[in-house]
Amino acid sequence: MSRAWLIGAGPGDVELMTLKATRALGEADVVLVDDLVNPDVLQFARKDAQIVYVGKRGGQPSTSQAGIVEAMLTHLRAGRSVARLKGGDPFVFGRGGEEQQALAAVGVHVEIINGITAGIAAPAAIGIPVTHRDHAQGVVFVTGHGAGNGEPDWRALVATRMTLVIYMGMRRLNEIEAALLRAGMPAETPCAAIESATRPEQRHVRSTLNTLAAHVAAAGLGSPAIVVIGDVATLGESPIPHGDTV
Ligand code: SAH
Repeated sequence: MSRAWLIGAGPGDVELMTLKATRALGEADVVLVDDLVNPDVLQFARKDAQIVYVGKRGGQPSTSQAGIVEAMLTHLRAGRSVARLKGGDPFVFGRGGEEQQALAAVGVHVEIINGITAGIAAPAAIGIPVTHRDHAQGVVFVTGHGAGNGEPDWRALVATRMTLVIYMGMRRLNEIEAALLRAGMPAETPCAAIESATRPEQRHVRSTLNTLAAHVAAAGLGSPAIVVIGDVATLGESPIPHGDTV
């Protein structure tokens, strides 16, 4: 019986993949790989596995969600086991939920294998814990993308006084910064942006909220990056906010 897995590859560092993920990957006949997955993790795939890149590669448009589900079904119906490999955790801004639903609708059960999400791994990579008893009672993961469901209620998020971890926020960082200031977040709130976390090319910027977008632009930081906002961002390496890139 062929099997289907939705696997989180973690944030980049191959050693941050789970044992369960590497084992499942080693069983799959076909591996469908998303953008942001470090290709080095494919060392755990079978030598004869068929590897299919479905992300935006070389300027090509990415395969549509429907197209990916169709491809999975084609392989499964032909008796091939399929591993769907996603960056970070498949159920955190990874559309894993949508794929699970689409497969369930045609009676296919997909096994979920968690990965370490970038929203935790990227801050940790520079020593920032997303919660800390002295600094934040919780953490909110939020998309900065602004598409689809519209803008988050920034005022409500600021009122929680929890750490904000923003995924996909780099393109709209100016707007997000302005929205948070308008929502009453103090200008001097500590922030950090971490690009390509846990990979050799990792870089980061620390700043206060009112100069975050300017410092990120000056340093030339881009996607993929996580932005962490809140008192916890004073912790870790080079803990004084100064806007330098490291
Ligand atoms: N499922 C993934 C998130 C996918 S959304 C997860 O759980 O991590 C894509 C966003 O994730 C990027 O825009 C960026 O904000 C973040 N991201 C993924 N990998 C990253 C990395 N290595 N460093 C920094 N941010 C990363």
